[in-house]
Amino acid sequence: MSLPNLFATRIKGMKASEIRELLKLLDQPDIISFAGGIPDPALFPVEKFQAAMAKVLGGGNHAASLQYSTSEGHKPLREWIAAEMGRIGIACTPDNILITSGSQQALDYLGKLFLSPGDTALVGWPTYLGALGAFNAYEPRYDRLQPGGNRSAQDYAAQAAPGRVKFAYLSVDFANPTGVTLTQTEREQVLDLAEELDCAVIEDAAYQSLRYDGPAIPPILSLEIARKGSIDACRTVYCGSFSKTLSPGLRIGWVCAAKPVISQMVLLKQAGDLHTPTLNQMAIAEVANDDFDGHIEQVRALYRSRRDRMLAALERHMPAGVEWTRPEGGMFVWLTLPKGMDGAELLAQALRTEKVAFVPGGAFFADGSGRNSLRLNFSSPSQQAIDEGIARLGRVLTAALTP
Ligand code: PMP
Repeated sequence: MSLPNLFATRIKGMKASEIRELLKLLDQPDIISFAGGIPDPALFPVEKFQAAMAKVLGGGNHAASLQYSTSEGHKPLREWIAAEMGRIGIACTPDNILITSGSQQALDYLGKLFLSPGDTALVGWPTYLGALGAFNAYEPRYDRLQPGGNRSAQDYAAQAAPGRVKFAYLSVDFANPTGVTLTQTEREQVLDLAEELDCAVIEDAAYQSLRYDGPAIPPILSLEIARKGSIDACRTVYCGSFSKTLSPGLRIGWVCAAKPVISQMVLLKQAGDLHTPTLNQMAIAEVANDDFDGHIEQVRALYRSRRDRMLAALERHMPAGVEWTRPEGGMFVWLTLPKGMDGAELLAQALRTEKVAFVPGGAFFADGSGRNSLRLNFSSPSQQAIDEGIARLGRVLTAALTP
């Protein structure tokens, strides 16, 4: 008997990452790691969560907080999110909001909602690895989304045949992995392309609130509302998250979209896990209502200083031929190495010789290209670790580039 022979075809697209083995070495204490992608736990508003949990569990409230609840999500939380969406130009009601178990679940459900085997998803080259992981289960093909590029909608459609392009997925602000933000013109171009292809747009806004400088750029959904007059006429599906602002462990994200999309996703949610944990939603609603803006300001201040530190260290230590992005927010800087270099080989070398870690870039490309790149995280390491770690990385790269 061999159970793996019985696995469905969709499982073939789901592979363990080759770099996982290498990253296991990160448990060693003397390694400086830029490989993470997680918030600094020192920023979690732990006292506010303690008070929130006591409130939603005490005083007879446990009957609601420990009980099953609606698939759409906790109403006061949806109301808070709808108001917050309004502040960034997305006029909507709580009926346009579905609470999900992190925005990762939203990506899974959107893959399930739109993709039949062989349909095409347009994604960036590179793009968020977790989005590829979520979509892969629905057996799509991928094509490269290049806002403002010179390919016509007809060309994309021909490439997708006999399937069709179902959506363009993109992380708009300080993207994971590149740290790059789409300009307003590029956002309008994505909308134009989606109109021509008659496909959906999935706007992943996981890092939206983590802007450290520069003016905010309107979300794609807000630009589309300006065109169409109402969210319910829009093709853009906005995915938000509390993971980078309050807590990733509570797994609270949301989808904001036209009502027909939300009502179909509610059915997926019912079939998938009934609803997002009630207690967690209530706790997030309490904490979000307690000076969210003040909390975010603290998060921004810390990450801004770490970003600045990393960019300054890169200026000092990177050899000629290495290029990097200068993100206005988020958690990542993206390095492009001279052609022919391989980020995965470099990681093995970096761990061995200098005990410094990062994520090789190849995994973020749906077509496996882009191996001459790597992702650095600046939200977790301390300023000292950033200085020391980038100096080490500079030595590794200098040695690799010296003939
Ligand atoms: N989108 C992007 C771009 C991300 O980087 C992440 C987390 N790494 C997610 C979505 C998923 O986050 P969560 O499920 O915690 O909301």
